[in-house]
Formats: sequence, structure tokens, C-alpha cells
Amino acid sequence: MQLGVHALVFTGTFDRAGLTTAVESTRAAGFDLLEIPLMDPYGFDRKLAAGLLADNGLAVTASLGLSDATDLTSANPAAVEAGERMLEECLDIVAAMGGRHLCGVIYSAMKKYLEPPTQAGRASSAAALGRLAARAADLGITLSLEVVNRYETNLMNTGRQALAFLDEIGSDAVRVHLDTYHMHIEESDMFSPVLDVGDRLGYVHIGESHRGYLGSGTVDFDPFFRALARVGYDGPVVFESFSSAVVNDDLSRALGIWRNLWQDSDDLAAHAQRFIRDHLHAVGSIAMH
Ligand code: MN
Repeated sequence: MQLGVHALVFTGTFDRAGLTTAVESTRAAGFDLLEIPLMDPYGFDRKLAAGLLADNGLAVTASLGLSDATDLTSANPAAVEAGERMLEECLDIVAAMGGRHLCGVIYSAMKKYLEPPTQAGRASSAAALGRLAARAADLGITLSLEVVNRYETNLMNTGRQALAFLDEIGSDAVRVHLDTYHMHIEESDMFSPVLDVGDRLGYVHIGESHRGYLGSGTVDFDPFFRALARVGYDGPVVFESFSSAVVNDDLSRALGIWRNLWQDSDDLAAHAQRFIRDHLHAVGSIAMH
């Protein structure tokens, strides 16, 4: 299992200075992996990132949320086309960096919709993701669809809804991405969704209810980690936290990051790394009980 951290813990920019800060801080905090948000894939220097990651011995994943202009569920064919092209670019970037995972809200825009999804929108997104999955499989990359709360998508808000959508896509290269922050809002508990998703779980985000320090909010982490052990999950487990202390304009607006939950990225990250590793260590022993 690889423990990772989202780059927005350390930097809001992805030029040489920002990437260097993110990579070096990830290693210093004891993580194995850096998740890079590809909010601007066409402006991202994959060669620079690959070199920095290799120099620091880190694995990499990438994530993003689509926008109105790239929404795969849109009734506007130009937006669907732009979304598919952008996700192809992201797959190429992940491959160039040696990564094996692309995740996030890559099936709809990441925004508060004012209407439920349409059948045509679902079908459009499922068809595009089916084509992207074939490309991903060729590159050895897993696409994981992040289940997020009702204020960030209308397409799926629970693990079981994600499984139903995966069945519509019909590709083994597409998996479910669960996030404790979103689960805490939408799911019946923190244990059953992991069992429901089972071996179709491809990616995990660990976030607190307010997205700050783990253990300082209301997410019930113990049953979630027990469930990961129960299903034998072996994929990335990535800490996600946001504060107005580190700002990326697009993502901060989309996620509603309006206040300061921490100041010291390095302390936050080192704490999260210990918290997650200790929980996984403990639940690993349950197999002997
Ligand atoms: Mn997340």
C-alpha cells in the first residue's frame, strides 16, 4: 500500500518552485506518493515533474475535477469533446511521469448542479469514459471515479451509485474512488460502502469533516480503516486537506475553501502521515485475531 499526500497541502502553483516545494515536502513528511491536481494540464511541465519525482524517489498520481467547459455529461457536444480530449492529455501526462492512477471528478463537472442528471448526460459520460478506459488500459493506468457529495456533482454521491455507473461504463480499467470527507456527508456509515465496493475500490482519499487536521473533526475513521483491511485494499491512500493558507484559485472556489484551518503544511502533513500509517498498522493485525 502506498501512502500519499495531495499537493495542495504544500503549494497552489505548479511551476518549478511549486513542484519542488511539493515534492521535497512530501518526502520530508514521510509519504511514498504525491498526488498532483491537473487543473491546467496544457500548462503542466510533465518532464520537470517526472525528474523531480525520480530525484526524490516518489511515486505519483494525478487528479482533477472537470468544469462546465469540459463536462462529459453536458448537452453541448463541444464540452464533451473538450473533456475527453483533456482527459486523454491527463492520461498522457500520468504515463509520462510513470504514474498508474488518474482519479477525481472526471465524469462530470465538479460543481453544484441545480438539476438531477439526465439519461443522455449519463450515457454521454459513460461512453466517453469507456473510450478513455481503453486508452488508460493500454497505458497501464487505472481511472478511478471519485464519489463526492451532492454539492460537487449530481451524478453519484454514494459508493453504490458509483457501482451502478461503473456497470454502465463496462470496463475493468475503471474503479471507484472513495473519500472519507464525502462519505461522512452522504453514506449510511463508514464501513459498509468499502465492503460494497470491495475489489472495485481503486483509490482512497483521507480527509477530515472540515478538511483540516485528521482527528480534529467528526469523521469516524476507525471503521473506515477496518473496512480497508477487511477487503484487502492495496491501492493508494492519499491525505487531502485544504486551507486558505495555500490557495489555488480554481480549486479553492470549487471546494469552498474560505477559511484557515492550519498554517504549517509540514506539521499537518507529518501528523497525517503518522495518523494514517498507525491506523493501517493496527488494522493489519486484525487478520491474526
Ligand atoms: Mn477527495
